[in-house]
Amino acid sequence: MNTSKKMIYVTRSSMPPMEEYINEIKELWESHYLTNMGTKHEQFVEMLKVFLGGVENIDLLTNGHMALELALQAMNLTGEVITTPFTFVSTTHAIVRNGLKPVFCDINPNDYTIDVNKIEQMITDKTSAILPVHVYGNVCDVEGIQKIADKYGLKVIYDAAHAFGVKYKNIGIGKFGDASCFSFHATKVFNTIEGGAVIFRNKAFSREICRLRNFGIKNEEIVDAIGVNAKMNEFCAAMGLCNLRHIDEEIKKRSQVVQAYIANLKDIPGLRLNYVSENVLPNYSYFPVLFEKEFGTSRDEVYDRLIENGFMARKYFYPLTNGLDCYKESFDVSLTPVALHVSETVLTLPLYADLSVDDVDKICNVIRICRK
Ligand SMILES: *Cc1c(COP(=O)(O)O)cnc(C)c1O
Repeated sequence: MNTSKKMIYVTRSSMPPMEEYINEIKELWESHYLTNMGTKHEQFVEMLKVFLGGVENIDLLTNGHMALELALQAMNLTGEVITTPFTFVSTTHAIVRNGLKPVFCDINPNDYTIDVNKIEQMITDKTSAILPVHVYGNVCDVEGIQKIADKYGLKVIYDAAHAFGVKYKNIGIGKFGDASCFSFHATKVFNTIEGGAVIFRNKAFSREICRLRNFGIKNEEIVDAIGVNAKMNEFCAAMGLCNLRHIDEEIKKRSQVVQAYIANLKDIPGLRLNYVSENVLPNYSYFPVLFEKEFGTSRDEVYDRLIENGFMARKYFYPLTNGLDCYKESFDVSLTPVALHVSETVLTLPLYADLSVDDVDKICNVIRICRK
């Protein structure tokens, strides 16, 4: 174990200069207005509308999970929702906690998003929606998915937790489908410490989620929905305002880290790297690498060697959500074989704006030495 230097973690939260944040929150000491859609919240909404490509209905929430959970509730879905098991557990929990049944569709081996050719065969008369994930910031086949949704009258809700700032054909990623849910958690490309947002195509759903995030309160005397408390506070909104001023530079630096990884690893047999698809403006949120049989050393062994050398990679996503303890009795991971293979061979490597090219070289050397 190399104890002489600090561990490099898989990510490191972006923070604005401290002075900038202090300046941003100063007026809160004058207003004493700390939450419930204050001025920081409103300013942040307006800035996001522009940054995300001119969206109309965007609503802020305490976190990305509540964005998903309340988006599904606001849309009043029933029965079954077709989704991917290759995701963070939040996606599946949001479906189940709404009393809906997840139906797991396999992913495609190229970009790990839902396999659009396998969706139709999973549709039954109980299906009400499709919930795909723009995993690693890779854009789902939004056109293919919409075609199926239109044909069968299904809603489409994207888990866009990884896709903040991503564009497809120069259109903000939040403009596809009926809803897109973002996470602003500390570990994501863009953070508000904790936070999330949902973009709805339909204004009525936006009104509904605003009521649900505030206990279902319509006015002082009327509570006409069973809501929760999921409002973003002023300190988180202020963090968002500051971090948003630096996001372009952050993504540019991340892109340089990714280019360094690709230059180092592209010729090593048995590795599968993640490449940006055509027509996509990426955010470089993750750098997943698959360790295939030809590499000669298992993913788990590479993971251990990296830790011994002071580098934390992450088995992201392993296990699949349909294989987690709370779901494995009800589902079968062997029915999503591509997702199973990816989950057993993938590591996401350390990636954040300030990761040095020197550290990338060291990480890649550890990987190169692992090859048998
Ligand atoms: C992070 C994440 C979430 C949940 O977001 P939180 O802000 O942590 O609640 C949901 N889905 C995916 C794919 C995520 O990565």
